[in-house]
This record gives sequence, structure tokens and C-alpha cells, in this order.
Amino acid sequence: MAFNSADTAAFKNVWVFCEQRQGVMMPTTFELISEGRKLADELGVELCGILLGDNVDGIANELGGYGADKVYVYNSPLLKDFTTDAYTKVIVEAVEEFKPEVLVFGASNIGRDLAPRCAARLHTGLCADCTHLDIDMPNYKGFLKEVSTLPAERIEKLGTVMINREPHSVERDLKMTRPAFGGHLMASIICPRFRPAMATVRPGVMKKREFDAAKAESVEILHPAFNLTAEDIKTEVVEVVKAAKKMVDLIGADFIVSVGRGISKDVEKGIALAEELAEVLGGVVGSSRACVDSGWISADHQVGQTGKTVHPKVYVALGISGAIQHKAGMQDSECIIAVNKNENAPIFEVADYGIVGDLFKVVPLLIESIKAAKEAK
Ligand SMILES: Cc1cc2nc3c(=O)[nH]c(=O)nc-3n(C[C@H](O)[C@H](O)[C@H](O)COP(=O)(O)OP(=O)(O)OC[C@H]3O[C@@H](n4cnc5c(N)ncnc54)[C@H](O)[C@@H]3O)c2cc1C
Repeated sequence: MAFNSADTAAFKNVWVFCEQRQGVMMPTTFELISEGRKLADELGVELCGILLGDNVDGIANELGGYGADKVYVYNSPLLKDFTTDAYTKVIVEAVEEFKPEVLVFGASNIGRDLAPRCAARLHTGLCADCTHLDIDMPNYKGFLKEVSTLPAERIEKLGTVMINREPHSVERDLKMTRPAFGGHLMASIICPRFRPAMATVRPGVMKKREFDAAKAESVEILHPAFNLTAEDIKTEVVEVVKAAKKMVDLIGADFIVSVGRGISKDVEKGIALAEELAEVLGGVVGSSRACVDSGWISADHQVGQTGKTVHPKVYVALGISGAIQHKAGMQDSECIIAVNKNENAPIFEVADYGIVGDLFKVVPLLIESIKAAKEAK
């Protein structure tokens, strides 16, 4: 029977696109598999990974360790390097064959390219750049009570929407939440009329589960037949050139020292102080967008809505005012320390420790005392 994305009852299971590059799984994949496990449990269905590449069976089991029940593996020399044409064709055909009800991608460059094209071919909806996903209504309502300004009684009444003038229960719909209007609003979006419900999810937002070695052993690996020829691919990857510069690993860091426009008095010194503080803490340097836009630091350091979402053990904000778009990327840090000369700066609203003062005076004292404490050990 022809594929019909509007026949919602025909779709089952949660799928995660498992992004690998040159045979190495991208860390976001494990975050998405972990989150996918939660969604699949809430729906009472299986969690499946879809993995494309050339000879990638060796990395498929790992997905089981983070919660996948099954992995659909598509191996071909034509899938070795990512091309939009080849990956779209294989994923679309797989979805048409197996009909998952939810399909999630990482919001990486590849995911952002691939997911909308697949959604258009499948004639379904895609919510891009999500920061939160829910199925279960009580969980979703709990989330809204925690983060939204909606009155509790209004939240409690949520659960039904009108579709084609008929009431529709959103009980089994994927609730996809993402920042909207420049981060001033959070919007929750559903795709009630078509399947799969598709989302891209920001890297670093979802938490990775503990690795379960037994589950990695027992995950079912499948190799469905598929059709892909060189004629399907209109582009040719001539060479893969890795960036010569090492990008800062903000997402994996336990300690981040971020600089903001407050360093403007002496940018070089401000960054040097942040680097020194990061070094004594064993961490890395991040920044607000203001510093990136001013050309003081490269974009891979940016934390926030249009930068990276981080949750380190300790986040130190130096001369950062705490705009909503910055806070969106760091407010889930375990401990936030802010240094700002304005005692009314909004960053202090999310800070566990606030130091009102000039960062150029405060940071050298912090470095000195951390070094002294380390030596005293
Ligand atoms: C769609 C959109 C997306 C955005 N995405 C992001 C994003 O991802 N990340 C992001 O960061 N921003 C983002 N922004 C920009 C954001 O709105 C703010 O403009 C930006 O975060 C401000 O950066 P800042 O705090 O460094 O600068 P400012 O707001 O100018 O704050 C500087 C702070 O430094 C303090 N200060 C000054 N001198 C000193 C000193 N000597 N010692 C101590 N404190 C001092 C000041 O009191 C002030 O609080 C986005 C904006 C939009 C519209």
C-alpha cells in the first residue's frame, strides 16, 4: 500500500538518526538515544536507531548501551561520507517501510540539512532546534509548571486541541519545545495530523544515560535491503578536510569560564585572565555572543541560544549581563558564579555565587586563592 503520512495509526516506535562521521559516532547521538529511550517508554514502544555509513556495524552495539532496542544499519560505500541526496533517499525509504511514529535528529550541520528534506519528502512536520521533548502529559505539565508563566490551573486543563473542528487528544503526540521570538518565548509544537513527528534537537541539551554493557550486547542489529546507486547522488565528496584549529569542547567541559562585553576595557587582558582561571580550574573558555560579534573570540566559544548549551559542574560568568539568550545556554549548570560590577545585572538571578566588582580586580584574586588552596592540599 502506498505510504500515507496522514494514516497516523499505521506508525509505531521511536527512531533516532545516529550520526557518525568517518566511523565515529557523534556524541549527540548518545544524548538523543538516551532521550529517545524516555519517549519510547512513555509510548510503550521500541526505540530504534537508524545508522548509515560504510562498514559501521562495529559502532552499532554502543547504541544499545544507551537504550536502543534495535539498530537499522545501512552500509554502502556510497554512504561513507554524508551527502544529502544519498542519506535522504535511504532514510525516506526506511521510514516508508517501517513507519516510525517519532523520528529525531541532532541539530548538527548534517541534521539541519537532512531532517527538513526528509520531512518534506515524507509530507510531515518538523520542529527544528528543540530543547525539550515530552510525550507523557503529566511530565509535560510538570515541565510547564517549572518553566512557564502560565497559571497552574490553565496548564492542568491542557490536553485537547481542535483538528478539522474535531477534538483531538494530544496524549500520544510528541510535545516539541523550542525557543521562539529570539528566545523570549518557549513554544511547544505538536504534529497531530501526520507521522512521523520529526524534530531536530540541539546538541548538549539532552542528558546521556549511564552506559549499560549488557544492553549493548543484546541490542538487535538489522540490515534491511535498500536501493541506492551512484546516479542517485548529484554531489561528489572529493576530500574531507578537518578544521586545522582545534575547536573548544564546551559541551564536554566540567568547568567553563566565560567572558562577556565586560572585558571591553582591555580585551586581551580579559581573555588572558579567563584563560588562566580556566586553566587552574581544569576547564575551558566560553563567551557571550557580544564578544563573538565584536571579533574578540571565535564563534565556537559562544554559549547561549545561538551558541552551545552547556551544563558544566561550574560556570563562571565574567562581565556578562545575563541576557535571556545567554542564560538559555548555561542556566542548567550545576553551580554558577558571576562577576559583574553592576549589582542589578540579571546574571545574578541565576547565579549561586555573585561577586559584585571589577573582573580585572576580582579574577586575579580568584586565581591566587584557587592556586593557594591547591597547594595547601
Ligand atoms: C536571536 C538572538 C540570539 C542571541 N543568541 C545569543 C547567544 O547565543 N549567546 C549570547 O550570549 N547572546 C546571545 N544574544 C545576544 C544577547 O541578547 C546579549 O546581547 C548578549 O548576551 C550580551 O552579551 P554580554 O552580556 O557580554 O554584554 P552586555 O549585555 O553588554 O553586558 C556586559 C556586562 O558586563 C558588565 N561589566 C562591564 N565592565 C565590567 C567589569 N570591568 N567587570 C565586571 N563586569 C563588567 C556590565 O555591568 C554588563 O552587565 C542573542 C540575541 C538575539 C536577538
